[in-house]
Amino acid sequence: MKIGLYGGTFSPPHIGHYRAAASFLAEYEPDLLLIMPTYVPPHKSSSPYDDPRHRYEMARLAFEPLCRGGHAEVSALELERGGISYTADTLRELYGLYGLSGEHGVYLLMGTDMFVSLDRWREPETVFSLSHIVYASREEGDGGICAEKRAQYEKEYGAAVDRLPISPLEMSSTEVREAIRRGDRVEDIVSPPVLEYIKKAGLYSHD
Ligand code: ATP
Repeated sequence: MKIGLYGGTFSPPHIGHYRAAASFLAEYEPDLLLIMPTYVPPHKSSSPYDDPRHRYEMARLAFEPLCRGGHAEVSALELERGGISYTADTLRELYGLYGLSGEHGVYLLMGTDMFVSLDRWREPETVFSLSHIVYASREEGDGGICAEKRAQYEKEYGAAVDRLPISPLEMSSTEVREAIRRGDRVEDIVSPPVLEYIKKAGLYSHD
C-alpha cells in the first residue's frame, strides 16, 4: 500500500493546500492520500474559530473534487484520537491500520514552513524513520534553506526527502482569515463551497 499523509490545521483550506495535494496525487499516484485536519495542532494556539469540526467539514468541501477519484480522503483519525495531534503517533497508527512495515512507509506531504521545523517536532527520529518526506515550496527563494535542512536531515536521521516539483503559490490561511475579518474578497483563493460554509457558520468575521 502506498499511503500519503497531508496534515494541517486547514483553518480554512485554500487553493495552496488544494494544489499541493493535487500535485502530490499526480506525481506519486498513491493508493490513498489521507488529508488529515489536526485536532489540537502542536504548533499553534487555538481559538474558537479553530473548532475541529468546522475545519473537518471545510476540508471535506475543499478537497471533494480530489476525493472523487477514489485515491484521496479527508480523515478524522486525529480528530477522533483527540488530544494534541503528534505526527509520530499518527504515523504509528497508520503503520498498524495499513499493515505497513520497514522504513519510510508513509509519504508525508508538507509545505516548506513545516519542512524547515521538522527537527523540532515531537520524536523527530520516529517521523524521519516512518515517513518519506515530500515538501512543496511556499515562497520564492525558500530553496536554499530547504536544501540545507534536507542535507542535515539526511545526515542526522537518514531521512528520505523529495521536493514536489511545483512553483510556489504564496498564500496562507492567516491571510484568508484576516481578509475575511476586513471584509475583503477571498473568492480567488477559497473555493465556493468553503466560502459558503464560512459565511453560514459566521467564521473568522470577529476577533
Ligand atoms: P496558517 O496561516 O493558519 O498558519 P497555513 O496556510 O500555513 O495556515 P496549514 O493548515 O497550517 O495552512 O497548512 C497545512 C499544510 O499545508 C502545511 O504542511 C503547510 O506547510 C502546507 N501549506 C499551506 N499553505 C501552502 C501553500 N500555499 N503551498 C504549499 N503548501 C502549503
